[in-house]
Amino acid sequence: MKRAACLLMISLAFMSGCTERDRMYRESRVLMDTFCTITVAGSSEEKARKAINSGFAEIEKLDGLLNYFSEDSEITAVNRAAGIRPVRVSRETLDIVKKAVHISEITGGAFDPTIAPVVSLWKFSKDVSAPSVPPEDAVADALRYVDYRKIKINTAASEIYLAEKGMALDLGGIAKGYAADRAVEAVKAEGIKAALVAVAGDIRGFGLNPSGQGWRLGIQDPRPAAVSERPWEDVFATLELRDKAISTSGDYQRFFIKDGRRYFHILDPGTGFPADTDLISVTVIAPEGYVTDSLATAVFVLGVEKGMKLLESMGIDGILVCAGKKILLTENLRGKVNILNTAYQAVNYSP
Ligand code: ADP
Ligand code: MG
Repeated sequence: MKRAACLLMISLAFMSGCTERDRMYRESRVLMDTFCTITVAGSSEEKARKAINSGFAEIEKLDGLLNYFSEDSEITAVNRAAGIRPVRVSRETLDIVKKAVHISEITGGAFDPTIAPVVSLWKFSKDVSAPSVPPEDAVADALRYVDYRKIKINTAASEIYLAEKGMALDLGGIAKGYAADRAVEAVKAEGIKAALVAVAGDIRGFGLNPSGQGWRLGIQDPRPAAVSERPWEDVFATLELRDKAISTSGDYQRFFIKDGRRYFHILDPGTGFPADTDLISVTVIAPEGYVTDSLATAVFVLGVEKGMKLLESMGIDGILVCAGKKILLTENLRGKVNILNTAYQAVNYSP
């Protein structure tokens, strides 16, 4: 996706039953190699536009700092200096890397931002029309450089050091959710009372929409019956989001099928291969987007049992979809998810 191509669209929408004063203003742009949409509820268009611009400016700034593919991002500087020297970084980069390490720790390494050397072998982010499975010895070799414990952080000096040459950071599993968090803060700082920030499938909302309800969102059908031009509109369930973030990781977003097997972009740091679990989609709901983004990836890697256990132990909500279209909900979510597609069946999980 071309990052320069910006889609500047302002649409004014009236919500049913709301007053003249409550309007929604929405704009989408391509940032972080994906579609970002900011929806703001407000009484003045000028104020709403200003807030939306602040939100996008924040996402753009983070994109500049964190982009793995950009020549001049801070992450690229850290990666180039792996095994050589620590690199001084901005407050934001230091903060997200710390958060990524924390998530790695609590997931026992199922989430690992040093997965980059393995990710680059798979080429999911590039040309999925020319799929190839990397040779096992190449994967094993790249895996030697995957270890979040070798990320050395010096907070006082604001420095990050990757302790071994060949190591590299890829924040693709946490940056979008983090950007949604920061954009929400930027929008709030403009005096806005309700907004929804979506960085692809990593979405954070706050406040109530103009109809006085939480933001109603759909979860994409991981196995739709028919091929659609707008797959994200094909949802199997909906729920209401109130002052929370939501992220979905699935095996259907970036994948290829070879010899009857599905290969996708969520990799198991233990094997270097796509996570081999019973799951096809994981949705996580929590107060912060960096948590939902990274935990959705981690739970996908951990599988049903360990994944459910982790979420329940943290008091975080999750919707796990297994291969047979069976849905498992964490306890707190039961009765709060509206399942639209009857091919999907909610089953009770008992550990
Ligand atoms: P998406 O980017 O489609 O929202 P995820 O949030 O699940 O999907 O993140 C997947 C991305 O994160 C991959 O494209 C890769 O860059 C990186 N990644 C893959 N596996 C892992 C992992 N086990 N831990 C951390 N990052 C990962
Ligand atoms: Mg994600």
